[in-house]
Amino acid sequence: MATRLSEDFMTSTHSAKYHELSLLLREAELLSSCGSVLSWDEQTYMPKGGAEHRAAQCSLIAGLAHERRTDPRIGELLGELQSSAGDLADNEEFVANIREVRRSYDRYTKLPKRLVEEISRVTTLSQQAWVDARAKSRFDLFRPWLEQVLALKREEAAAVSNGQGDPYDALLDDYEPATTAAELEQIFQPLASQLSELVAAISVSEQVISAEILERAFARSAQKTVVEQAAKKIGFDFHRGRIDESAHPFCSSFGPGDCRLTTRYQEEAFNSAFFGVLHEAGHGMYEQGLPADKFGLPSGQAASLGVHESQSRLWENLVGRSMAFWKGFFPTAQVNFPEVLADVTCEQFYAAINQVQPSFIRVEADEVTYNLHIMIRFELERELLSGNLPVMDLPEAWNDRYDTYLHIRPASDREGCLQDIHWSAGLLGYFPTYALGNLYAAELMAAASAHFGSLDQLIEQQDFAALLDWLRTHIHQYGRRYAPRKLIEQAIGHPVSSQPLLDHLWTKFGTLYQIPRPV
Ligand code: ZN
Repeated sequence: MATRLSEDFMTSTHSAKYHELSLLLREAELLSSCGSVLSWDEQTYMPKGGAEHRAAQCSLIAGLAHERRTDPRIGELLGELQSSAGDLADNEEFVANIREVRRSYDRYTKLPKRLVEEISRVTTLSQQAWVDARAKSRFDLFRPWLEQVLALKREEAAAVSNGQGDPYDALLDDYEPATTAAELEQIFQPLASQLSELVAAISVSEQVISAEILERAFARSAQKTVVEQAAKKIGFDFHRGRIDESAHPFCSSFGPGDCRLTTRYQEEAFNSAFFGVLHEAGHGMYEQGLPADKFGLPSGQAASLGVHESQSRLWENLVGRSMAFWKGFFPTAQVNFPEVLADVTCEQFYAAINQVQPSFIRVEADEVTYNLHIMIRFELERELLSGNLPVMDLPEAWNDRYDTYLHIRPASDREGCLQDIHWSAGLLGYFPTYALGNLYAAELMAAASAHFGSLDQLIEQQDFAALLDWLRTHIHQYGRRYAPRKLIEQAIGHPVSSQPLLDHLWTKFGTLYQIPRPV
């Protein structure tokens, strides 16, 4: 099936085998990226009438890609290359690619076809049930589906881990390789208690910040101009990408040279499109920075969801919500929104976009409270998976946790445990990657700032090239060559901790809310 390329590539039988393996992987990835084009179109331009036919197209392509990824020939080649790699054994990239291909090949092939099909069937139905349950705010309608999803995910965990270890780790590994729940707990627990302290201090601060400015009428066309300018300025390459509109914002890379971002423009919610695009552009710039000639191989893929999220959060929050950024960008905003921003100073605008307010909905949360929403989900999904928390007790447990961490109590399941799509889609072990992203982002920003002395001046001058280049050099170019934590630790030069994130939050919000940091 694999085509032989030029003679000079084949210096040995090992490189011929490696080459064949690379071609097989590339074809699987090409197929899968065709599916990405179709689902991007489904969410942006497809007329409603196309839904059924599109579902059939996507399912066919997903099936074909899965067949390619589990091709027994891949297993054979892996076995031969692992037992005798010859002159390739010292090549760091080769070793990493074999390790990563083995990891995903084993995962794909350990799952019985029956289980894969059952998970796909049940999660499709369970998502529909979730939409309905959420609209009616009735957890009882979703409960039996969540029970089924959990049973299937336990089966999946047992299959991929051969029944060894914490089942949660087996699921987490799919999103954040080489990371365990116990490790996360060690980082998250002190983070959660210190964040709670900061939230409590802010809530009693006499400094009141209003976000009224952001709810004025920001014309959609001007928003479009402004977000495109901002994305271009920070370094998103429009020659190799574009921004369209969809109900739920996302970033989808079709492969080298084509990365799609989406957003939604809401007139009376400035934050939504602006910070949404900075976030997705951060994801997009990571994709655009991956080595194009490695497409299909792990060395051409993002390291993990946590590392991906570190890129989006860095540009959205650490750059986009900083004073330095707005000192430079506010004049552009004022030119485009002359009426709504006529009586607003840069300082007032900066305060408004950084208002801290404990709220029920994760996706609308501010920089300080966001991670607490994640801690709650991380704790609960571990308990659900282990069976320590019966599904019927979830709404109560959810509300109690919000009471404890954020001192607010959801009045309905719609603003409580029914708000996120993840569990209905079978995405268990996914939430912690959001918090890891915030943590990694703060570590990377601290390291980059130390490297450049300070980044504030460059950011204020709207010169982002040095920072992007630093990220390209330390993160993007490596793809999946190193385990995510190792990749970050190499970039920052020390073990990962939550300290830089806490330092950043206390410095920024301590100043905004005029509260001293406890010693
Ligand atoms: Zn993201």
